[in-house]
Amino acid sequence: MARFRPLVEEREALLATGVRDPFSIVMTSVLSPTEAIIQGKRTILLGTYNYMGMTFDPDVIAAGKKALDEYGAGTTGSRVLNGTYQGHKECEDALKEFYGTDHAIVFSTGYQANLGIISTLAGKGDYIILDADSHASIYDGCWLGNAEIVRFRHNSVEDLDKRLGRLPREAGKLVVLEGVYSMFGDVAPLPEMVAVARKHGAMILCDEAHGMGFFGANGRGVYEEMGCEDDIDFVVGTFSKSVGTVGGFCVSNHPDFEVLRLVCRPYIFTASLPPSVVATAATSIRKLMHASDKRAHLWKNSRRLHAGLRELGFTIATETAQSAIIAIMLSDQETAVALWQALLEGGVYVNLARPPATPAGTFLLRCSLCAEHSDAQVDEILAIFAAAGRAIGHIG
Ligand code: PMP
Repeated sequence: MARFRPLVEEREALLATGVRDPFSIVMTSVLSPTEAIIQGKRTILLGTYNYMGMTFDPDVIAAGKKALDEYGAGTTGSRVLNGTYQGHKECEDALKEFYGTDHAIVFSTGYQANLGIISTLAGKGDYIILDADSHASIYDGCWLGNAEIVRFRHNSVEDLDKRLGRLPREAGKLVVLEGVYSMFGDVAPLPEMVAVARKHGAMILCDEAHGMGFFGANGRGVYEEMGCEDDIDFVVGTFSKSVGTVGGFCVSNHPDFEVLRLVCRPYIFTASLPPSVVATAATSIRKLMHASDKRAHLWKNSRRLHAGLRELGFTIATETAQSAIIAIMLSDQETAVALWQALLEGGVYVNLARPPATPAGTFLLRCSLCAEHSDAQVDEILAIFAAAGRAIGHIG
């Protein structure tokens, strides 16, 4: 434990200044996708991944209750033994329909989906070429599989090309991209990246955790919106964001995809999702196929918040709203925590993100919008940001 001592001391010093611990918030009750009670106060949630507001959808809840009654609380087993119920197959069918692919495999979380798929696809002697800002689950998948890891500069097509060009021609190569990067809320230039990866004979995996539900005519993700559907070999995603429950998945048209069920350790050596969870996921996914009105409202919310915060004088990670994540950039932890706390006291919860989740020296107050935020809530959020920013002297 000795190596964590500096972190323990840093935390103790921060909490000694009287601020609330940003990493131990408890939602004592949840009123809707956009409101909860935190320490006795009604609070607008602006720091969840509930992009499409599906957590309280009546059809989703009814499906979960029915499965709980009919199939019990859990499967008590692995997908490859006693843990595949009818509901798991129906959930995979819903994914195949949603994505228009031949295959879909469901994992217990999105973290495990990346861990499993990446470590199984690329092993010793292969190369994984990934964006430096990739999610932790992508990095962990690389390490588990023992492949050589090559990082390229965040969203740099030129650097990707250069690094791929240095690798042995015959070696197996997997390029791993994300549609939306979750810290800054920026999107990847997928068509250019795909063209470069193809030129070097690499396979491509795209994590659409933050794009599903929101981007593309069918809500498949950024790769659909940017017209790359024929070029991405594997799409990884999660049920913990737009779908509104928990679980992870990979979809693909690769003809041998099903063999992964026999060789992918994070799929095999863990219990499958409870029947109620796969039932809520399948129902939510089917509803997301017809959610264009919600998508349009979410875009409107995102653009309004971005413009409003900018006008108030906050520095935002992207020039324009590129996704449902709007990240306010701050250069020190004290300001970040002070603003975070002032917002909470004002009645808005946002995510505080700090290194190692963010690049060194970058502290973020990450706002993520929900399709269920009303216009009045966005007005209220902006008013609370104005008051909090002025109270701590961060904006004029
Ligand atoms: N990929 C990305 C890009 C993510 O942001 C996350 C979670 N924040 C995951 C994967 C993991 O998803 P899950 O919450 O389902 O484990």
